[in-house]
Amino acid sequence: MQFCSKDLKNIPYLGEKAEAALKRLNINSTFDLLFHFPKHVTSKRMYPALYSLRQGDQVVLRLKIIDISQPNISPRTPRKPFTIFCSNETGMINLTYFGFYPQYLLNWAKIGSEIIAIGKIDIHNKLTQIAHPEILNPLKANIKMIDKEIIYPLTYGIVSNQLHKYISFILDLLKIDEEWIAQETLQKNNWLGFKEALKKIHNPKNKSDISPYSLERQRIAYDELLATQLMVNLLRQYKDKNQGRSITTLGSLTNEFIKNLPFELTNGQKDAIDEIIEDQASNKQMSRLLQGDVGSGKTVVSIAAMLNTTQSGAQAVLMAPTDVLANQHYQTLEKFCSNLPVKFALLTGKTKAKERREIMEGLQSGEIHILIGTHAVFQEKVSFNDLALVVIDEQHRFGVEQRLSLVNKGNKADLLIMSATPIPRSLSLALYGDMDITRISEKPKSRIGIKTSILPQAKVSEVILSLNNILKDQGRIYWVCPLISKDEDNTDLQKMPAESRKEELSKYYPGLVEIIHGQLEPHNKQKALDNFIQGKHKILVATTVIEVGVDVPEATVMIIENAESFGLSQLHQLRGRVGRGNKASHCILLYQAPISKTSWQRLKIIRESEDGFILAEEDLKLRGSGDLIGTKQSGLPDFKAVDFIAHHHLIIDANKQAKNILKDDPYLNSPKNQKYRDLLNVFGFNRSDLINLA
Ligand code: ADP
Ligand code: MG
Repeated sequence: MQFCSKDLKNIPYLGEKAEAALKRLNINSTFDLLFHFPKHVTSKRMYPALYSLRQGDQVVLRLKIIDISQPNISPRTPRKPFTIFCSNETGMINLTYFGFYPQYLLNWAKIGSEIIAIGKIDIHNKLTQIAHPEILNPLKANIKMIDKEIIYPLTYGIVSNQLHKYISFILDLLKIDEEWIAQETLQKNNWLGFKEALKKIHNPKNKSDISPYSLERQRIAYDELLATQLMVNLLRQYKDKNQGRSITTLGSLTNEFIKNLPFELTNGQKDAIDEIIEDQASNKQMSRLLQGDVGSGKTVVSIAAMLNTTQSGAQAVLMAPTDVLANQHYQTLEKFCSNLPVKFALLTGKTKAKERREIMEGLQSGEIHILIGTHAVFQEKVSFNDLALVVIDEQHRFGVEQRLSLVNKGNKADLLIMSATPIPRSLSLALYGDMDITRISEKPKSRIGIKTSILPQAKVSEVILSLNNILKDQGRIYWVCPLISKDEDNTDLQKMPAESRKEELSKYYPGLVEIIHGQLEPHNKQKALDNFIQGKHKILVATTVIEVGVDVPEATVMIIENAESFGLSQLHQLRGRVGRGNKASHCILLYQAPISKTSWQRLKIIRESEDGFILAEEDLKLRGSGDLIGTKQSGLPDFKAVDFIAHHHLIIDANKQAKNILKDDPYLNSPKNQKYRDLLNVFGFNRSDLINLA
């Protein structure tokens, strides 16, 4: 494969400003640029009559220059444009340029000459004009290439035209010697080659060329899935080859912990614990995903595993995505393990320097057996005496690269990832093919179901008044809003900000309302949550920060405002915050009318089912191309070219092909497999990370 370097700096006319803009778009290499796909294409009006032009038309015009007006640049009239007066047989039009060097314009703007002008029509005070049109020489222009306007997802500092030029430059240099998709797959699907497909995607003729369902987009998605499957299977090979450590104990510490619990474990929990302990005993490095719906009791399972580790004399760490959750886990340990011979500590961004130093020492000496902390803390260099188990909680975005880096730390520690994102089987395969999967599919029996109602926003005052009964009963209420404040980038004024909702609720229930959201300092977040847990404040207005993990058994009501703006999985996760105690719970979904048909269906499905896995399958079916709630909200790892809704059916084939390739060449070292190494490279996977493992 031939390619210009990965470095963006090698693209002509790509300066610092553009590079910074690309970074904001998460484009860090020339490959990333190739997978930055257009989102719109509009036809320009070719040679329309000038009297027929409408505001905002994208046009290509043939014109004759009849006059030129150069502004007198003086401090008093700095904003006067350089104006070129043009006409043709259908009327007149002005072309205007602000802030250009006159000489630059005078080079081509000659009275009497013919030009082609391309741009957007602006009609102002009956004057028709185009500001800063692109000008072509009618004798040289390739008209075929200019009749479309291709629009990319953008940020400030870059425009679509520019992106298109960069991408065309890369595509021109790209040379693929050998196809990496199996011939039969190509033929079956009627797919073009890699380069041809990308060319078509970046030069769309109409809307259907833009769609993720187009043949070209499917092909590129398959490429990425194949790369991912190769990576995941390679990771598995290398890991299986690696000796792990074998943790065997009598299990008495774990058993005592289980005996002390104020509840009976569910069968799902028992099976999960058995499986994990068996894994720990084997001399392979454990890499296990523990999937279980919200409230299925994953934390207890992880504590059992950690205690088994500490009984063997080694250490364990539990990482949570937020301070709030880390705190909660710590409190759970205090609640259930304080009479056990095990020492645990909490390390978060909040931990004071002195305490931090003591904890570090305790970890190094082995005096502390279990560390609870946030991911951020783990990234700092915490060194353990003998770390044998890493538990990662609620981290759905822990993609294959992150797992690789963890395994690469070389301590042979076992890895247990806990996730409440109920993903369909086909996706589990793609995302976690290198791991073993345990699923807890039942919830503790004591749970009473959650009743879910759907109400229009117009009923909000009734809902507010009805809270009175809950409060009298010492219940707690979550109230979730889609935004924090009014001035948040809110194009949709129909959405209710949490701050406004808090004010409103405080009028009814003074002193009882608390707010929590992502912009609060960690200690304020914790304080808000503590007040809610202790019942000082009984209503917690929140954004989706409470989505993940928070456990307050006294909470019995969940109100979600603008429920239509959330995805199914997210609604399900939010609802899972209630129904954790032994009292009947309610979830009220408020929607802002009018509401689309799919949104309505989504709300109905959530009302009818409480099974996260069923909801995940339905979610996938419902998210047609018209539904804008993207995978970003679903908690799946980010892909470059794959859109799960449109492409999930390709996973099985990609997995098969990857396995086939590795059957003959398990470590992908053979010269004939250069093309697959190229493929990994294109999607940013670093094979040398794997080789370090061997
Ligand atoms: P999740 O799987 O969502 O992380 P948690 O581990 O936070 O769930 O557990 C939710 C709540 O259920 C906690 O208060 C926990 O103590 C409790 N719990 C866990 N297992 C059981 C059980 N078998 N019976 C009753 N309650 C349980
Ligand atoms: Mg949890």
